[in-house]
Amino acid sequence: MNPPTLSYLQALSDNIIVDAQKCTFCGICAEVCILDNIRVQLAPCRQACPLHTNCQGYVQLIARGDDQKAMKVLAEGLPFPGIVGRVCSHPCEDACSRREVDGQAVAIRDLKRYLADNVGLPPVAIAAERPEKVAIVGGGPAGAMAAYQLRKEGFRVTLYDANQRTGGMLASGVPEFRLPARVLDEEMSILARLGVALRLGVRIGADLPLADLLEQNDAVLLATGAHLSKRLSMSGEDLAGVHDGLGFLRAAKNGTTPALGRTVVVIGGGNTAVDAAQTAHRLGAAQVSIVCLESRQQMPAFAWEVEDALEEGIALRNGWGPAQFLQKASRVSGLLLRRCASVLDKDGRFAPSYDEADREQIEADTVIVAIGQEADLSYLGGAAPVSGGRLAADPLTLQCYGLTKVFAAGDALTGPKTVVEALASGKEAAESIRRYLVGDSLTYGRSYLGPYETEFPVDKSKAVARPRMQPRKVGGATRRTFAELQQGVLEGEARAEAGRCLSCGEAFGKFRTCWYCLPCEIECPEDALRVEIPYLLR
Ligand SMILES: Cc1cc2nc3c(=O)[nH]c(=O)nc-3n(C[C@H](O)[C@H](O)[C@H](O)COP(=O)(O)OP(=O)(O)OC[C@H]3O[C@@H](n4cnc5c(N)ncnc54)[C@H](O)[C@@H]3O)c2cc1C
Ligand code: SF4
Ligand code: SF4
Repeated sequence: MNPPTLSYLQALSDNIIVDAQKCTFCGICAEVCILDNIRVQLAPCRQACPLHTNCQGYVQLIARGDDQKAMKVLAEGLPFPGIVGRVCSHPCEDACSRREVDGQAVAIRDLKRYLADNVGLPPVAIAAERPEKVAIVGGGPAGAMAAYQLRKEGFRVTLYDANQRTGGMLASGVPEFRLPARVLDEEMSILARLGVALRLGVRIGADLPLADLLEQNDAVLLATGAHLSKRLSMSGEDLAGVHDGLGFLRAAKNGTTPALGRTVVVIGGGNTAVDAAQTAHRLGAAQVSIVCLESRQQMPAFAWEVEDALEEGIALRNGWGPAQFLQKASRVSGLLLRRCASVLDKDGRFAPSYDEADREQIEADTVIVAIGQEADLSYLGGAAPVSGGRLAADPLTLQCYGLTKVFAAGDALTGPKTVVEALASGKEAAESIRRYLVGDSLTYGRSYLGPYETEFPVDKSKAVARPRMQPRKVGGATRRTFAELQQGVLEGEARAEAGRCLSCGEAFGKFRTCWYCLPCEIECPEDALRVEIPYLLR
């Protein structure tokens, strides 16, 4: 292989000296460099996070023993660390370079929770009040993040939600044993503290027409999620004892679940199905099983949630689909299952096919159908464009097609995704609304990553030999209660885990165009950067 070609300037030695023990990888030096010389290598964890959270920065600060500063770095981009530290799908960990050393990513999400459990959020500065009014429909992660961002910019924000609590699906669907209400409510309370006007228990469309919001506000964000449970559309689905996944989880949260009987069967392979099965276990069902078309590896549910369910004795019946509801009198009594031959067609689309000759019958006192969610957009009344059952908006600006002051974010736009993706979508929508309201271009610079590098070698030679920390979980009879399943991280565990991080990526002078003007050195908040000035220029 030929050696990489360096330009003459690149071949010169770097006079930008960065102390790796002080740097927090904030990127300010690169942003202020007048000669566009400095670059920051973005660690893989940071690239993979839809919010581009500075994971390297806060993990390194935990390793250095500075939890306060670590929280400051984390909270810069994420006002809800306790929520995300518990339920995030953590794409950062999938990308973490540490996996190439011993197959085990740094526990980036658990370290977030460690900070959230132990360090208070730093104060938030709000810009001077502005006159423009923004209405946000939906207080889930997307709407809440947008409300937070826009309020910080000084706009007058009113957030409407049909629920009595903010949090969206986190309040109405995600079970208490994964995300305690006290954590959700505490972190969401930042909205009211910043001055977001909350109009809870107001369903737009039913209690207040969307037209009123459009008339009375300078911009409107639609972030209404995906709250309709998909139906199997098989006869028997309306029998007593058959429930939809979201309705069941909502009832469990409100303490209004009907009697389940001994045997509960959940249909579906996603997070809703697994959460419903674990909820049924906690509500006292003697035998709970999950029936899904997919193999264990193909199940869309997070692998760690499936493991939790298996630990609780929940049975998995992979590769089966329902053929018929069985009934005694007018109540469900079981299911006739048929073997699933394949889930996807040759183009990767969901199109299950069955081996109709291979059938089995199972008993059930209760059946929960949790096969997916879709958006309920009936409240729009034609006021915003819809495509394929979702809001239709420009993918870069999230501005609804054909409308100027209406924007979309979260699951209602993308279909069911994850908390961190909804947060990122809410942040992007807020940025578009800000630009729209102050008269800036909605698109300018949006696809430029910034002075960052994404391709670079990572030095794995200094990796400490230490296995990934194992989260402590409650066990025994407590697994029959709604007590939080995963326990917090202890200080010693956090330091040791953070010490596994390879600290991929650094700030460096790339083009050797330095004119010794020094804004990088002056602006570095950590006093981590020094510009080496040739002797004759001093
Ligand atoms: C059971 C379950 C478990 C999940 N677990 C996880 C997990 O562990 N990790 C993860 O990352 N993701 C998880 N998800 C996915 C995650 O919850 C969603 O992707 C995320 O909440 C979407 O955020 P959102 O803001 O777009 O919408 P939502 O969170 O759905 O919020 C939308 C809000 O809009 C309100 N609304 C809707 N229509 C109206 C109206 N007409 N008027 C007023 N208000 C309205 C709703 O009441 C709701 O509060 C889970 C989803 C489910 C269903
Ligand atoms: S080793 Fe550290 S910096 Fe590198 S990807 Fe993992 S958490 Fe991020
Ligand atoms: S050298 Fe300073 S300004 Fe540059 S990334 Fe590091 S901490 Fe930030």
